[in-house]
Amino acid sequence: MPITLEQLNRAPLAEATQMLDGLYEHSPWIAEQALAQRPFASLAALKHAMVTVLNQAGREPQLALIRAHPELAGKAMVRESLTAESTNEQTKAGLTNCTPEEFAHIQQLNAQYNAKFGFPFILAVRGPRGVGLNKREIIATFERRLGHPVDFERAECLRNIHRIAEIRLNDKFGFEPTVGHRVWDWHEDLARHSDPGFAEHGQLTVTYLTDAHRACAADIAARMRDCGFDEVHIDAVGNVVGRYHGSTPDAPALLTGSHYDTVRNGGKYDGRLGIFVPMACVQQLHTAGRRLPFAFEVIGFAEEEGQRYKATFLGSGALTGHFNPAWLDQLDADGVSMRDAMRHAGLPATLEAIGALERDPSKYLGFVEVHIEQGPVLNEMDLPLAVVTSINASVRYLCEAVGIASHAGTTPMDRRRDAASAVAELALYAEQRAAADGDSVATIGMLQVPGGSINVVPGRCLFSLDLRAPSNEQRDALERDILAQLRGICERRGIGLKTEETMRAAAAPSAPAWQARWEKAVAALGVPLHRMPSGAGHDAMKLHEVMPQAMLFVRGLNSGISHNPLESTTSDDMELGVNAFSHLLDQLATEHPN
Ligand SMILES: [Zn+2]
Repeated sequence: MPITLEQLNRAPLAEATQMLDGLYEHSPWIAEQALAQRPFASLAALKHAMVTVLNQAGREPQLALIRAHPELAGKAMVRESLTAESTNEQTKAGLTNCTPEEFAHIQQLNAQYNAKFGFPFILAVRGPRGVGLNKREIIATFERRLGHPVDFERAECLRNIHRIAEIRLNDKFGFEPTVGHRVWDWHEDLARHSDPGFAEHGQLTVTYLTDAHRACAADIAARMRDCGFDEVHIDAVGNVVGRYHGSTPDAPALLTGSHYDTVRNGGKYDGRLGIFVPMACVQQLHTAGRRLPFAFEVIGFAEEEGQRYKATFLGSGALTGHFNPAWLDQLDADGVSMRDAMRHAGLPATLEAIGALERDPSKYLGFVEVHIEQGPVLNEMDLPLAVVTSINASVRYLCEAVGIASHAGTTPMDRRRDAASAVAELALYAEQRAAADGDSVATIGMLQVPGGSINVVPGRCLFSLDLRAPSNEQRDALERDILAQLRGICERRGIGLKTEETMRAAAAPSAPAWQARWEKAVAALGVPLHRMPSGAGHDAMKLHEVMPQAMLFVRGLNSGISHNPLESTTSDDMELGVNAFSHLLDQLATEHPN
């Protein structure tokens, strides 16, 4: 019989500890200490309480817990002396069924890993969907993680231990994140479409209006109809637009959505999560035969990443009247104009049809967007969700420092005009200056000495600057200080300097009322509320120009890596995302009664 949360909340401590036995390998103290925080409002709250206990326990107990785990497909498995939970997990992953070669390879990895880190490799082998990673994925992860620094890997093991505990806890409570599983499966299914040249290598690439892109649009449209949307169509720029009618025909609409195009060799969740999460909400409303007092419009934006054509945010930009007519004549790498690509896709390719997509903001309540975080913060904090406070303002420069190239052996240190050292000095300053703000970031992502040689003092250095902060004022101050420092360094070192601004985008602070709705929704799930700025740009930035907006972030695995095939998130976190969104819809329904 599965345990219920109510039973756990009511039971005497010893009995409750017994109920949670086996979640953390040979470490009942974690559950026992977490139980001091009863009653738990939700399973998510209980999970977080245990996470907090372990995170606050300090280094030694954490290491002891890691070391309490068996090696992956190790001697304990062969001796059949694993705990019942571990046996179940290793069997599901097919590890009890290795070929002799695979077994030998894993033993070798175990030995290398142990020698480097001093603890066993830990992986939640049941994976982000709970059904089990395959052996190939497990071995690839093992090989990749061998390269990590020790402190990083210790934290990664603890995160995997929390994931193992999460799945074990779900099993104990007979809880399956069925909605999260469904949403996870939709991503997996959509990822079968990929552009030629990438599909063959198992890589995901979907760029604007390719065959794979159009297949994605058709799939999303079909799935929207299945979910119970009343109207579904593909618009003049390829956006998939689904509308779930409100209880009255003239009710204003809530707008949401994100993009379905990807970068080259990208992840499965970037953008798409923000389409599928609200679709799952509509499916639930439709199944319950429920109408909201407002219309709900969900859009899969056709283009956000600017990969095939230099036209980022094309999909959401069309809704705000920012489609640049010159884009139609732009050519892709194969010389195909956007106009021809549109015609090939059966779109009208006229400025009239595209102009007609512009929305009248007075007919909308606002815009919300769910997105995978694309950063390491939630993963490191062991939190599933965050509410976005602002999409960061940014500015970019391409710069050139000009010194004097001279012989590395004969030029004394006090007679050099080393262009690269000047930029190195700036890089260290930029790092400190951005860190001092707490939430600003500064990056020199490109740093080259053109035609440099091992025995020549760098005469030129080309470099980039990327500066971002949650408000325009904060970004401007950061920019001012870094440029002033750069001029000072160059003057002192006798180095020439050229700077060219290549991009500037204003901050998109969340509308307070909409941010508050997301905050309420997250709090209602029993998980701690975390607020953070978005360092990356999103479709919400475009909609921000015409209506209030706010975003919700969902944790990514693998340090939140994105624009990469390792991008990942669990069905448990996706389900929390759906629940948060449903809560927001319920709040709005109460605020706008008929
Ligand atoms: Zn995105």
